[in-house]
Amino acid sequence: MSTIASISTAPGIGGIGIIRMSGKNTFNVLDKIFKAKSPKSIEEIPGYTIKYGHIFDGEKIIDEVLVSYFKAPKSYTTEDMCEINSHGGTVIMRKILELCLKNGAELAEPGEFTKRAFLGGRIDLSQAESIIDIINAKSEREAKEGIKQLEGFLSEKINEIKNNLLEIMTNIEVSIDYPEYDTPEVTNNDILRNIEESRKKLEDLKKSFDNGKLIKQGIKTVIIGKPNAGKSSLLNAILKEDRAIVTEIEGTTRDTIEEFVNINGIPLNLIDTAGIRNAKDEVERIGIEKSKKLAEDADLIIAILDSSKELSEEDIEILEIAKNKKSIVILNKVDLEQKIKPENPKLEIFNKNIINLSAKNKIGLESLFEKITTMFNLDEINIDNDIVITNERHKNLISKAIENLDKAKNILKDGMPVDIIAISLKDVLSNLGAITGEEAGEEIINEIFARFCLGK
Ligand code: GDP
Repeated sequence: MSTIASISTAPGIGGIGIIRMSGKNTFNVLDKIFKAKSPKSIEEIPGYTIKYGHIFDGEKIIDEVLVSYFKAPKSYTTEDMCEINSHGGTVIMRKILELCLKNGAELAEPGEFTKRAFLGGRIDLSQAESIIDIINAKSEREAKEGIKQLEGFLSEKINEIKNNLLEIMTNIEVSIDYPEYDTPEVTNNDILRNIEESRKKLEDLKKSFDNGKLIKQGIKTVIIGKPNAGKSSLLNAILKEDRAIVTEIEGTTRDTIEEFVNINGIPLNLIDTAGIRNAKDEVERIGIEKSKKLAEDADLIIAILDSSKELSEEDIEILEIAKNKKSIVILNKVDLEQKIKPENPKLEIFNKNIINLSAKNKIGLESLFEKITTMFNLDEINIDNDIVITNERHKNLISKAIENLDKAKNILKDGMPVDIIAISLKDVLSNLGAITGEEAGEEIINEIFARFCLGK
């Protein structure tokens, strides 16, 4: 494989910058551009060593650097590797990269270092995917799940199920190849028990995806309310910043504003909608439709009422949208005289999910956060040992594996020959193998690594 080079630190100016190289020619290329203060031959330099020196372009010093040496197979990619720690200026880093390329390295594609770690067998595909998740994590909790997956907890679980199924397949094959050893009752019961066990484990993983989705994408929360109820004020109070426009003119929030906020380490994906009302003008009407549509897709609806005014027709319409969903009703403006009380019969169905709040004076926000935490069992999700699926690709493959297991089970129940079961079980193994990567096609692998940033 070629020797690749790339700038691995984020674009822009920083204290230091890192240029990475990987491949069998790494140290040859490095030799041509790096002069160590105390030079040694590459054979004398052990892996995990840092050397101080200068990068030269043949004539003059380009930068003063530290170079880390990693020797195959003990490196990120499993190949010979080095990381040049230079000063973090764009010009310097580009110049050093250029020198690497001029002296025999090729420009790395996005994710190519990690792809090599995968191809070199140091990590499997699900671990490689977790690296993207760690880099892109929007919350501590999401990063933590990524790290767990990188540590191989998911792969371990998948491999455990795979081994279980391989055992059944071996039994089936033995019974086909050596019928004289066949003990049918034992074989059939064993197969069924094994299938049920594997199915249960996969079901648990599949179920964890709902929590995983919350961790990764956030609780999709839509704030609805008639104009002037205080939607923007609430959003601002939550975000503690002036992202939304707070205004007394009705319907200025015509489009939606979206923001993330963390509660217990889990991101809340907050969407502020346009006011819902029986609007006359066209733009406003589009806003209403959008609000209703957004509310349909939401994990949580926050219906906000101006409780300093009597309950209006529009409020009722808002409550109608909220009532079929997980929702919290906020009685806003409690700093003023309250006209809509929590005991109002129209609010009865919202039961315990009513909160007195003042977006203006930031009263009641804690109660709101607590309510969301209990509604979504966020405390429960924080159980550290559970494996949580956060990746849609993994979830789809697990669903397919469950379907194929069910097929195998039905074949068994219909009293069909056991060798037909082996076909369905092979499909299960290939579904699971696609998660860890040994059965994933090249196209999928390429598509996954293309999502990486340059230099990773
Ligand atoms: P939106 O149209 O639903 O987004 O409502 P805004 O957030 O723009 O608020 C409309 C008006 O109500 C603004 O003048 C806010 O200052 C005011 N307002 C919002 N929340 C409160 C509150 O808790 N108490 C009082 N007294 N006024 C509020």
